[in-house]
Amino acid sequence: GAEVALVGRSNVGKSTLMRELTGHSFDTGGKPGVTRSPNHYDWAPEDFVITDLPGFGFMSGVDEDHREQIKTEIVRYLEEYADNVLVAILVVDGKSVVDIIDRHSGPDEIPYDVEMFHFLRDLGIPTVVAVNKMDKVDDEDERLNELCDRLGLYPPWKQWQETVAPISAKRGQLEPLHEAVRSHLHEQNRDDLF
Ligand code: GDP
Repeated sequence: GAEVALVGRSNVGKSTLMRELTGHSFDTGGKPGVTRSPNHYDWAPEDFVITDLPGFGFMSGVDEDHREQIKTEIVRYLEEYADNVLVAILVVDGKSVVDIIDRHSGPDEIPYDVEMFHFLRDLGIPTVVAVNKMDKVDDEDERLNELCDRLGLYPPWKQWQETVAPISAKRGQLEPLHEAVRSHLHEQNRDDLF
């Protein structure tokens, strides 16, 4: 069946977003890095699944090898199911994403969020970046323009509303995400789904 996949670093609010989208509670399950991977949720009554892929990146108590293993697992999953995935939602933390990207940009380093964004696009998966925790961001336009710049999307961000969706999962403010996802499903004549 058709699938929407959620990816993102740990602690960006993926579980909170899943809960808001589906109305179901998802136990992130105690220890960080101990992944319940991948977590499928059937979107009844449609033949439609929303998949929560394991959180990636720094988690206290999780070593480098395990992090690499999780990353490899995510990449393999997306490669295997690329044809099924109608839309990917890359969740980032709007409060910290630009700082984290800048800190990890260098001659031999590509920040995870940037790498994942391009990887998804290279697989031909329409991708929406859900910029979460916008309730904690003061200058919304500035932050979103900076993020677009880092992702190689020419600012201003308002040109990219099918790709960049500022949200607050905690407050249930998800309309820009719904609209962005719907626009991609519409292109695929599946906008009955979301
Ligand atoms: P996950 O590791 O990506 O699944 O992240 P969680 O959903 O467990 O959320 C991590 C933390 O961020 C929790 O303390 C959430 O309450 C908080 N959080 C999630 N969404 C938002 C949001 O929209 N705004 C704010 N301020 N905090 C959020």
